[in-house]
Amino acid sequence: MAIATINPATGETVKEFDSLTSEQLEEKLQRAWDTFQTYRDTTFEQRSRWLRAAADIFDAENERLAELATLEMGKTFAAAKAEVTKCALGCRWYADHAAEDLADVEWPKPANAPEDARILTRYQPLGPVLAIMPWNFPFWQVLRFAAPALMAGNVGLLKHASNVPQVAMAIEDVLTRAGFPDGAFQTLLVGSSVIEGIIDDPRVRAVTLTGSEPAGREVGARAGQNVKTSVLELGGSDPFIVMPSADLDSTVTAAVSSRMLNNGQSCINAKRFIVHQDIADEFTQKLVQKMESLTIGDPMDSGTDLGPMSQGNGVTDLDEQVQDSIKAGARLLTGGERLDRPGNWYPPTVLTDIPRESRAYSEELFGPVALVFRARDADDAIRIANDSDFGLGGSAWTNDEDEMWRFANEVESGMVYINKITESTPEVPFGGAKNSGYGRELASFGPQSFVNAKTIWVQ
Ligand code: NDP
Repeated sequence: MAIATINPATGETVKEFDSLTSEQLEEKLQRAWDTFQTYRDTTFEQRSRWLRAAADIFDAENERLAELATLEMGKTFAAAKAEVTKCALGCRWYADHAAEDLADVEWPKPANAPEDARILTRYQPLGPVLAIMPWNFPFWQVLRFAAPALMAGNVGLLKHASNVPQVAMAIEDVLTRAGFPDGAFQTLLVGSSVIEGIIDDPRVRAVTLTGSEPAGREVGARAGQNVKTSVLELGGSDPFIVMPSADLDSTVTAAVSSRMLNNGQSCINAKRFIVHQDIADEFTQKLVQKMESLTIGDPMDSGTDLGPMSQGNGVTDLDEQVQDSIKAGARLLTGGERLDRPGNWYPPTVLTDIPRESRAYSEELFGPVALVFRARDADDAIRIANDSDFGLGGSAWTNDEDEMWRFANEVESGMVYINKITESTPEVPFGGAKNSGYGRELASFGPQSFVNAKTIWVQ
């Protein structure tokens, strides 16, 4: 895939970039390794100062940076500005909390230890960490890795998605101007074909990937062959369970926000709406109404609810999934036909009566398509929710206390939110189960992901 900025709203190629030559790549890997030798000995206070300075730049240059995201991947300008603000929040969060997350842990002494023995875990950085990142939250996905990893004393190497090169370079620029040493965080403009070689490189000590399941399998396997730490945040097909005790209007509003977040292209969008049969007709009718009322248009325009999808092949793939599912027996309630205009446009779409054999039942639909299922009762809702290879997030909407805890305990996913849309925020752990990946990001898991938790016994 060419490394280029292609405006998804128009289809216009704005700028193309050369990939690094093998000499340039080698030079960057060596610089990462050399920088690590001294960066690892910087103090938490020093790293915090650099991270706070980065937060200030994200705030001061919010609009300029947000425009890059909208230009390269099509999210609304309002969403892009909120994303850049979240990066500032994440930087400040880890500037304030990482030292505490990585403080020594003292353990109780076993019987054979003398009185004055000290037994502890000390978290030490691993070295250069490769981050392979997706285009959908092109700033936040990177910062939610980089802020805690840099605080832990690691250095970062970013292989960003090929369609967001300007965002990738802007992130390196922000962190460099914030004061991080040259080589502490570098963007590698490379295609995915050279990733295996980078993972094999002995100077690279760990890898994290946020992206699709196939890419995750390859990267995880390669890391395994090299016995290197890996964290995988992959796709999802999150359930959104609605029970009769939920307030229907506010739940439908939440359903549409969650499904349409980021023009329908978030791993934690609610994708499968599993609704109790007693309220299924009313919920569906309101859902369709709300989806049809969304304003589709220029993502820079403040009145726009739904902008373009990020990539042309994303629209083609999504449309094929929808058409194949209709052929397999799913019923189309609205949308379902790509918009005839330059750029990557797909309308808000709702499918129901989705057969188990159809693609919509088992695959992730990464675009503005809602799937509605009817459940007989709570047991049936849990059965449908869990009948998926994915297990990233999910939510359930009910005012019944017993049901809340049943869904929280029995939905098979890395995250369950009750009466709340699933989100990614620095204070709360994030990650998946089943084929949605392994490892956790954010909260104290972020700084602890790429460290040697060294046991030390001194007597
Ligand atoms: P991809 O997996 O194709 O791309 C993500 C990143 O991986 C890009 O940097 C890409 O580079 C790189 N990549 C692709 N193939 C390989 C490979 N074989 N080896 C190494 N690196 C590779 O994802 P999509 O662009 O399709 O993004 C959408 C998917 O990502 C969805 O399934 C979505 O759910 C998932 N996702 C998960 C998130 C989570 O937090 N769990 C968040 C966001 C998205 P290049 O662009 O050069 O191909």
